[in-house]
Amino acid sequence: MNYYSTNGNAPIADLHKAVVKGLAEDRGLYMPERINKLPQEFFDNIEKMSFQEIAYTVASAFFGEDVDPDALHDIVYDTLSFDCPVVQVKGSIYTLELFHGPTLAFKDVGARFMARLLQYFIRQEQGNQQVNVLVATSGDTGSAVANGFLGVDGIHVYVLYPKGKVSPIQECQFTTLGKNITAIEVDGVFDDCQALVKNAFMDAELNQHMKLTSANSINVARFLPQAFYYFNAYARMKEQGKADNLVMCVPSGNFGNICAALFGHAMGLPIKRFIAANNANDIFFKYLQTGKYEPKPSKQTLANAMDVGDPSNFARIYDLYGKSHEKISSLISGATYSDDQIRQTMRECYQDTKYILDPHGACGYQALADGLQPGETGVFCETAHPAKFKEKVDEILGIDVEIPERLANFMKGQKQSVPMSKDFTDFKQYLMKQ
Ligand SMILES: *Cc1c(COP(=O)(O)O)cnc(C)c1O
Repeated sequence: MNYYSTNGNAPIADLHKAVVKGLAEDRGLYMPERINKLPQEFFDNIEKMSFQEIAYTVASAFFGEDVDPDALHDIVYDTLSFDCPVVQVKGSIYTLELFHGPTLAFKDVGARFMARLLQYFIRQEQGNQQVNVLVATSGDTGSAVANGFLGVDGIHVYVLYPKGKVSPIQECQFTTLGKNITAIEVDGVFDDCQALVKNAFMDAELNQHMKLTSANSINVARFLPQAFYYFNAYARMKEQGKADNLVMCVPSGNFGNICAALFGHAMGLPIKRFIAANNANDIFFKYLQTGKYEPKPSKQTLANAMDVGDPSNFARIYDLYGKSHEKISSLISGATYSDDQIRQTMRECYQDTKYILDPHGACGYQALADGLQPGETGVFCETAHPAKFKEKVDEILGIDVEIPERLANFMKGQKQSVPMSKDFTDFKQYLMKQ
């Protein structure tokens, strides 16, 4: 399969190149040249298949031309070592719980899948040189990427994070791992971490010295596997006889997750319509109303993983529907919620149903509560386990959210990190010695 750039000014790439490079030369996002439709008999029997079996079928449609079937099978089964249940919350509102992965984040799937696919391609390269992944994080991405790449030989990961600016749980998730994961604690803010990574990619001497790549969320190997979730959601709803007139609602920030769902739809997944739920960062919501895409600096909110003022995957969605506002707005609707509304939703839902929403999932739940039409069944993604935002959830609901064992285990490890200034010369000097 060939991949082209959404900016249209870069050479066509094969999957190997698209995964290793992440971003095209013209800074556009890679798009597959074709989206293969899945056969009707797959959808006829999908409810009898497991999450893993479904995912392997979907993965084969995307990556089957470029990856050996046995290797792909191994990658999918290694990535999906957990379940992805659908739970009824209230009436015709269901939730797809995406937080059962190793770090309780939906990003675990893309991170692990990308790590294993990158390893597969590195092994085919001559000389088999070690690849170094640099990732800047404000919290969540670092833990998903670090855990996804943990123990994958041939790849070393450097996680750069701002000192004192990530939650203790998040910090433990990437500083206690050891092995091929090095945490770098930068004396600065997230933007400083990002600047160090960008400078490293542009430094010729450094790139001579070591092979560098990113594990950015726009990488095709990180975003496409999220489509697995939506096929599974359909299957689990069909199992319960609830798969007609399905509305899929996705709390969105960079729009990678919903974009994967839309790719699923393009492969034939029978979802009637989609809702992109936003916090106060309402750029996409505004686009749907006006047809104008106007990026803005992001605002800090309770649902901070969705604090994005210029969602990078908008370019993919725009491209997927031939830049047609009419097509996009007829399939996808929007919703936007303030922090006060998020709090109120969390409280109401908890009082009503005892279901504990996290601030991100709350946007999804409320969008369905507000927008579901008679005869429709809604499924919203719960994108994070409430314990990941424990301080906020406890305070809003007046409860003590239980920390799952998997999360607690990270807290037991020994924190190890390399202190670093925000000065690129220091970071370069450090990398040159590795
Ligand atoms: C990353 C993230 C999101 C946003 O997902 P996008 O793919 O960027 O739209 C929503 N909720 C949580 C908890 C996240 O970690």
